[in-house]
Amino acid sequence: MGNAMIEAIGLDADDTLWENETFFRVTEGEFVALLGEYADGADIASRLLDVERANLARYGFGIKGFMLSMVQTAIELTDGRIDGRAIGRILELGQEMLAHPVDLLPGVPEALDALAGHRLILITKGDLIDQERKIAASGLAERFDAVEILADKSPETYSRVLFRAGVAPEDFVMVGNSVKSDVLPVVELGGHGVFIPHAMTWAVEHADAPDHPRAHRLETIAGLPALVARLEEGHA
Ligand SMILES: [Mg+2]
Repeated sequence: MGNAMIEAIGLDADDTLWENETFFRVTEGEFVALLGEYADGADIASRLLDVERANLARYGFGIKGFMLSMVQTAIELTDGRIDGRAIGRILELGQEMLAHPVDLLPGVPEALDALAGHRLILITKGDLIDQERKIAASGLAERFDAVEILADKSPETYSRVLFRAGVAPEDFVMVGNSVKSDVLPVVELGGHGVFIPHAMTWAVEHADAPDHPRAHRLETIAGLPALVARLEEGHA
């Protein structure tokens, strides 16, 4: 048929273009060590995850919310006995994350170059300032036609992005490492979602991959240009 035309490709950033979750896990390890005299490591980690989940609606995604959740967890787990110096160390851990250099994932610049004939939109969520910093530091900013930093990724927020871009959902492909954030909401709207798993993905982002003709999976971003070409030929 050859009638499919992919007008725009949306790319997630954290753990799709560059490393992210690994820094959270390293910091969590230091946080667990800091509270080691008060509780068991696995308990601290699961308590922290509960606090983060409960705070998401208030703080949103990103490092600042993570810092506040670590402080809250430390106070609660120690019945308020945690000292000011340890709280200071927790804030320092977060500030180190906010200053960390950007490590691109393998094959990213090459895949973006191969897709340069398409409209590319970087679509991420999290702290506005931190995401802007990472986009600038990545050296990839000029490869994108637009950058969208969202509070959350839902069918509603994606449909606003598509409206602003003037793109119909069926002509849109979203690519990322989270089935929950990058695939399901876009497939629900009528677009294509491409899941590229990352070895480390936050528990909150876990979801089962749907069995759906517009839901796709790639092992690495290197396969993306060929997948987009197949979609345009109507063979995928
Ligand atoms: Mg991601």
